[in-house]
Amino acid sequence: MIDVLATGIKKSKNVLHYFFGKGAVGNLGPILLEAGEKGGTPPVFFVDHFFHNHSELIRGFLPSPAENILFVDTSKEPTTRQVNVLRDRLVQEGKDHPSAVVGIGGGATLDVAKAISNLLANGGHAEQYQGWDLVKVPGIFKVGIPTISGTGAESTRTCVMTNPQNGLKLGMNSDFTVYDLLILDPDLTRTVPRDQYFFTGMDSYIHCIESLRGSYRNAVGDAFSEQSLKLCREVFGAEDMMSEENRARLMVASYLGGCAVASSYVGVLHPFSAGLSVVLGVHHGLANCIVMTGMQEFYPAEVEEFLRMAERQKVNIPRGICRGLSPEQFDFLYRSTIIHEKPLTNALGKEFKKILTREKVEEIFRRL
Ligand code: NAD
Ligand code: ZN
Repeated sequence: MIDVLATGIKKSKNVLHYFFGKGAVGNLGPILLEAGEKGGTPPVFFVDHFFHNHSELIRGFLPSPAENILFVDTSKEPTTRQVNVLRDRLVQEGKDHPSAVVGIGGGATLDVAKAISNLLANGGHAEQYQGWDLVKVPGIFKVGIPTISGTGAESTRTCVMTNPQNGLKLGMNSDFTVYDLLILDPDLTRTVPRDQYFFTGMDSYIHCIESLRGSYRNAVGDAFSEQSLKLCREVFGAEDMMSEENRARLMVASYLGGCAVASSYVGVLHPFSAGLSVVLGVHHGLANCIVMTGMQEFYPAEVEEFLRMAERQKVNIPRGICRGLSPEQFDFLYRSTIIHEKPLTNALGKEFKKILTREKVEEIFRRL
């Protein structure tokens, strides 16, 4: 029998360099100058579309004129098609050999920038690299600048994309996907709407509880998870989760949470969350929080803690999302959940399909 975790984490790579702190984003200019000295055309910037109408927030640290800004529409999660189209645009405009690729935004934008960097150096199409260790050569030098905290996309070795052709939601899992340099500046997250801040921030909490509850663990991953959880508890247990100190704490929690998943696996919750994203288009952070409300039998203490934190921060988690779905939609939800063998094996063992039967999965979705 094939061991689905045979590709497990035996060696782990972290981001090589990072700047941290209020004002850290001021380092971007010198970094890009240095990168430019090594050759290539001017850097390209992938920026979350929120900043299109709020350019005053980024103008201060982007080189001017910044003609190579590509705004990333994050109203939907990244697709392989979207990545291919963005890459094609760079090729058509003769900008496909940049000295650096810079991602500025949340998990979606950071992932798009990672994927483009890999694709520009490796050729082909994004879908060819969905899987484990399929990227052959290092991507273009890439800099990640998160503007919302929680996914850990800044520190992981993957970039999640959905292939609309086959519904596969999977990233380019590769050491080459890890950012070369990060700028973690908590000032950049001050404009995030409160609910979104909570939903995305909780991704970090959830990554860590799932890793710690799994059976494929290692001591380094556990240490990252424990520290990240401690910070999440301070942030979401505080009166104002978005105070300057708490935004800094959550940025660290997110980074460490990404390091934690990079050296372990998630569990039962993420596969259900991916089901909601693929079938109903619910965004990752919100989908996680919705699924959390139905995970009592797997993570009882954590569900209770999560609900307390949501109440403390006055964040409403939508209920009844699967009400009125057709049997075909429940079938699709089941398939999109159960496909995630690695995390489910990590959480429930190799016989996980005996626990998560078609009926059981539907029952859990109906609970949400
Ligand atoms: P996101 O990137 O979609 O951003 C969420 C929302 O916040 C967007 O509407 C965006 O416009 C807005 N936003 C971002 N920064 C802002 C700011 N400073 N001010 C105001 N609004 C701002 O969401 P996310 O939760 O950060 O990321 C989710 C994505 O990350 C999913 O596609 C998921 O698959 C992926 N993900 C990747 C990894 C990884 O390891 N690569 C891990 C977890 C999740
Ligand atoms: Zn996640």
